[in-house]
Order: sequence, then C-alpha cells, then structure tokens
Amino acid sequence: MADLVQGLAFFYGNITREEAEDHLKQGGLSDGLYLLRQSRNYLGGYALSVAFSRQCYHYTIEKELNETYAIAGGKSHRTPADVIDYHAQESDGLICLLKKPCKRPRGVQPKVGAFEDIKEELIRLYVKQTWKLQGAALDQAIISQRPQLEKLIATTAHEKMPWFHGTITRDDSEPRLLSAPQTNGKFLIRQRDASGSFALCLLHNGQVMHYRIDKDKTGKLSIPDGKKFDTLWQLVEHYSYKPDGLLRVLTEPCPRPDGRPTIPSNHPMRLATGGILSRIKSYSFPKPGHKKIRTTTSSAQASNSNPYATRPKLSTTEAMPMDTEVYESPYADPDELRSTTVDRKDLYLEDGELGSGNFGTVLKGIYNMRKNQKPVAVKILKNEENNVAVKEEMLREAQVMQQLDNPYIVRMIGICKAENLMLVMELAELGPLHKFLQKNKHISTKNITELVHQVSMGMKYLEEHNFVHRDLAARNVLLVTQHYAKISDFGLSKALTEEENYYKSQGHGKWPVKWYAPECMNFLKFSCKSDVWSFGVLMWEAFSYGQKPYKGMKGNEVIQMIENGGRMDAPLNCPSEMYNLMKKCWTYKPEERPGFSVVEPKLRDYYYDISH
Ligand code: AMP
Repeated sequence: MADLVQGLAFFYGNITREEAEDHLKQGGLSDGLYLLRQSRNYLGGYALSVAFSRQCYHYTIEKELNETYAIAGGKSHRTPADVIDYHAQESDGLICLLKKPCKRPRGVQPKVGAFEDIKEELIRLYVKQTWKLQGAALDQAIISQRPQLEKLIATTAHEKMPWFHGTITRDDSEPRLLSAPQTNGKFLIRQRDASGSFALCLLHNGQVMHYRIDKDKTGKLSIPDGKKFDTLWQLVEHYSYKPDGLLRVLTEPCPRPDGRPTIPSNHPMRLATGGILSRIKSYSFPKPGHKKIRTTTSSAQASNSNPYATRPKLSTTEAMPMDTEVYESPYADPDELRSTTVDRKDLYLEDGELGSGNFGTVLKGIYNMRKNQKPVAVKILKNEENNVAVKEEMLREAQVMQQLDNPYIVRMIGICKAENLMLVMELAELGPLHKFLQKNKHISTKNITELVHQVSMGMKYLEEHNFVHRDLAARNVLLVTQHYAKISDFGLSKALTEEENYYKSQGHGKWPVKWYAPECMNFLKFSCKSDVWSFGVLMWEAFSYGQKPYKGMKGNEVIQMIENGGRMDAPLNCPSEMYNLMKKCWTYKPEERPGFSVVEPKLRDYYYDISH
C-alpha cells in the first residue's frame, strides 16, 4: 500500500494528528496547505490534514472494498493521490480546496511505525483464530472492537512469540541459550515475577548476559537507563536494530522447548516488520477466557428442564460482542440448516416475560438446534381476536428480518406456527437501551459511544442493503451486554426498490413523531436519510441516559419547532463532537443530511480517539 504514496513529497507516513498539525504550522498554516499521512485507525487507509483559517482539519481517506480510495461518503478514486488531485479542483465537502502541498523537510523520510504495521496483521490473525471468524464478521469485529483488540495485542502478543519463555529462572534460561547453535545475539525473554518485570537473556561469545526489564508506574518497559517502550514487542524490535547499550544486537530467538514452531534455521533473521509477521502466521493464539458468553442471567432461571439453569453464570460486563452467542448468525455453522420455520417441539418457553409490545408478550426460551441449544426471545402473537391484519403485520416483520444478517441487528431465527404465531429471535437480555441507561447512570461516555457506534454499524448495513427501519429509537436498541447493542423491531421497516431510494407511506399512522424527519411528516417520505434523523434523536437519548426527547412537548409542537429551525439542546455533559454529529443528523433537507456511510466513520473516529 505504501508504494502508492511513498514517492509523494507531502506524505509523512505514520505520524500522529498532533505531529501533522505541527508540520502544517511550520509550513505557515496558509489556507489550503495540506499533507497526507497514514491512518492510524483504518486498515490501509490514510488521513489528509488541511489548514484553513489558521486551523487544522483532518479527513480520513478510506480504502474501500474494491481497492479504491475515498473520503468517507465522497467520490471514489483509484489512488490517494487521485483523491488529492480531485480535491484540488473540487472542495466537495472539504473545508476548502487543496492548494499547496506541505512538503517533508529535506532528508526526512515518511515515518514507519513498525509495530503499527504488524499490529494490523496481528489483530486480524488474533480475531480469526480466537473467534473463528472470517469475511464480513471478521471485519465488523475489528471495526467495533479495535481499541480493545489493540490493547490486547499490545500487552499479550509477546506470549505467542518464540522468544518469550514465560516464567522461568535465570538458571533455567542458560542451558536453553547455550544449546547449539550458539549464535551470537541469540536471545530470549523471561518473566521474572508476577508484577510484570522481565529479563532479556542474550548470548554473547558463549556467555549468557541477563538484562533486567523494569516496568515503571505508567506501565512502560525499559532496560535500566534505556529507552522506554509500551510493549515487549517494540523493545525487541528496537534492540534488533541497534545495540543501544547492550553488548550486541538481538539476532535469533532462542526456540522454546515446548515444541512450538520456530524460525527455520536457514531463515534470514530479520526482526523487522516482515520478519516477525512471516513467523507469527505459523503460531496459534491460545484462547484464555474467550468462552462464548450466554446472554442468560440467573434472575430468570427456569425449571430444571432448562439446560442452562445449572451452568455457572458468567460476567457479561467486559465481554466483547464476539464472546457472546449472538455475534455470528446461528446459521453460520454449515451443520445448522437455515430454515425459516421452527418446530414447536424444539422450542422451550420460560415463564418470565422479557417485555411486551404491539403484538403481545415476548418470552425467553431455549431453541434446540441440531448441534446447539440457543437461548432465544420469542415474540408471541396474542390471538384472542384472531386478527388477520395483525398476523400479517407480524409475518411482514419476520419477512424483513429474515433478509438481514448483521452482528448489530437482532436476527430472526424462525417463525413457529403453533398454539400462537411466534417469532423466534436472538436474545438480547439486557433489554432496551434507554431503560438500561436510566438504571445505570455510571456508564461512561466511552461506553455509550461504543454502543451508538455499533448501532450506526447496523444502520450502515441496512443502508447498504436498501432497507429503511422507520422506527429507530433507543427503545428499539436492545443490549446483549453492556458493550453490545443490536437494533430490533422491524415492524415498520421496508425494503426499498432499485428505482426509488425512499418509501412513500399511504398516510399518517401511529407514528413516533419525535423521531421523524421533516420530510416524513410533510411528504410521507421515508429513506435512509430519515433514519439518520432518527439516529440523531437516538444519540440524544443515549447521551442523556435515557431521557425522553423534547420532554413535555406535544408532537405538533415538536414539528413546529423543527420547521422554525429549532433543535434539542445538548444533553448534560455530552461531548461537543457528539452533539455536533446529532445536529448534522438533524439537517433539515435530506439531500444535505449525511448518510450512515458518513455518520458511522465519524463515530468510529471519535470512539477510537477517546479510547486511546
Ligand atoms: P417489541 O414488540 O419488539 O416492541 O418488543 C417488546 C419488548 O420485548 C422490548 O421492549 C424488549 O423489552 C423485549 N424484547 C423484544 N425483543 C427482544 C429480544 N430479541 N431479546 C430480548 N428482549 C426482547
């Protein structure tokens, strides 16, 4: 990827946003002065930094699936340089035209972040191996959990390296290093004690040298008086390039005696990026603590016939979405044949009610699949009146849900036609987002951002598949865990046709007016853009911990306020970035309002920013 930009005089490589701003300042901050740098958040992406009005603006240039590049929501181009050429002619959403490249000072090469480069590969490999994910499910897991995964990789990746020998003594380490071949620079790292202090053991002219690696208060690692590093990885990378106080550079990892694969003896020992990676591919990551988490809690334990009743309860607070049973489609397993009908004999219903809605109650249940037993939510149609219209409505909802398959959307498992008509769905046991936040005021802004970002990922999926939700609100976002949200309630949803990118309603119904965009009220027109408006209201609900939007106002008063240009104030303590995004979602004209393809990366950027 770097080949595309390495030759550009205004490409700075892996520098931070702050460093980019410094360069632009040194360049005079004239309007339209710009530089390009490697994105630190996006796999294979770039960032464009532009000066305007004595300020710096930053845009992500994403690498798209078809290998093209675009500023989120903008036109696609073949290379990042083409993106820049285009924006020298057309501002097209940018703060100004790109006028003058801010060139690297003479002799300065684009900065290479060694760990940054391998980190991407490591994260992919880790997610692939730990959760057995691939394709879109793998990408989505990385996008939604990048900050957590980065930390995990940075702090644990050394455990998978051939040079890391775990907790062994100094005496244990010496025979390992002295066994043939006695290559100068052969090394290993051992853990000295549980507090996280390590030692680097290095072979030098037939003797083993031991260097202590200390951890300071902030967690930084260093050899006494040496440079500080965040991870053992970076430390090994550094000392393999220069001795920097050691008797010699590190050359060859000493193989572990546990039989894990190591570098072939004829492998040229390069510890640089490519070297480490080519080897790590042959390792497998152990899976400490990555058990699938059931979405059940002990509160609604069922009778003895419930196979989950006797299993231990697991904490769900720190679970990643991929740890739960509802991240991947139940039919991702080829042994589970996809069927839209559920046989009543395979469905066990519990007593406790999860909630109730238009159709009747929602109960918790267990569905016996071919290989697995799955906790489920079952929406049961009350059929006292045997109302055909309501039945059709439920089947329509099922028909929409059946076409959707995304980790951030409640999936339908099947329809069960028995004593009642039942819609069997994935279980999201912590219930609606607004109620959860009302009861849990201690939840951090970062946690809320994580959840609304997940909702935006689900909505981006709907947008890409031409569905409008039409009832997006915090009450229709259900939580699987405190860190995992899914969009639900597709009762009003519509699939759009190829020709029309909106749905025209036949008339006003029992509508959630406070969540509806002006064009819905005025022209009965529903599109992904009107879902974006609702998403803005949902964000407001989330950042106000589940308060009612436009409190105390009637529907028509809200409509009037919107028409007059009024918008809700920021929730208390809401980050300005998030309130600005809400206001963008409440852009009056749908054609000027951003789509989810723009909203999602904005949330992603902010979430990554506050997580680092
Ligand atoms: P609805 O009829 O879709 O509005 O659902 C009514 C209520 O049932 C929701 O507010 C939730 O409390 C609960 N519920 C619905 N679907 C699920 C689900 N998949 N998992 C857990 N609870 C659910």
